[in-house]
Amino acid sequence: MSRSVPWQDIETVFLDMDGTLLDLHFDNHFWQEHVPLRYAEKHGLSVDEARQLLYPKFRAREGTIDWYCIDYWSRELELNISDLKKELEHLIQVHPHVIDFLVALRGSDKRVALLTNAHHKVIELKLATTGLDEHFDQLICAHSFRIPKEDPRFWPRLAEEDPFDRDRTLFVDDSLPVLRAARDYGVRHLRAVRLPDSKAPPKDTAGFIAVESFDELARGL
Ligand SMILES: [Mg+2]
Repeated sequence: MSRSVPWQDIETVFLDMDGTLLDLHFDNHFWQEHVPLRYAEKHGLSVDEARQLLYPKFRAREGTIDWYCIDYWSRELELNISDLKKELEHLIQVHPHVIDFLVALRGSDKRVALLTNAHHKVIELKLATTGLDEHFDQLICAHSFRIPKEDPRFWPRLAEEDPFDRDRTLFVDDSLPVLRAARDYGVRHLRAVRLPDSKAPPKDTAGFIAVESFDELARGL
């Protein structure tokens, strides 16, 4: 299969936020370092002890909408997750060439939607910090369906709310479970981000065509 996107065939572009347009380093650092640190301070623990308590709680909610819900974690951990995210605002970074890619997309006739599992408060914070919001026709948040993108029930729900032609849709994400759910639903043009976190090694994108960089993805647009 050719690596380049057949742009003439694409009508709708769905773009994930964390790890795709934005550097996942923020989120990884937030959950692996910052939350354990603040949790440890609150309960008089070492950061390692806090991690040992927190990680099983995190793992237990993986793949569910709770995992992405800062209200859930604020309640569960008795921490103001929204405020803690603001403390790390300086780490919210856009991946290289993303802005140019979005500008090129806006100049095309395609519908461009952000399609994210992130909570709406997190979307607001990140879009305000990065200025990305002006580049989308639509912001679609999986929380409105209470089903995350990796759940097979998500895609028919999305299509019901907001019809799209799966043969003429491009979807870019960094999560393999999410891409598999989209593929099973029949979304035809899929791309997996090779380097979601700039501080971590590149990802094996399994059977999916990798996005090595957004200038490469924009070719032919
Ligand atoms: Mg992602």
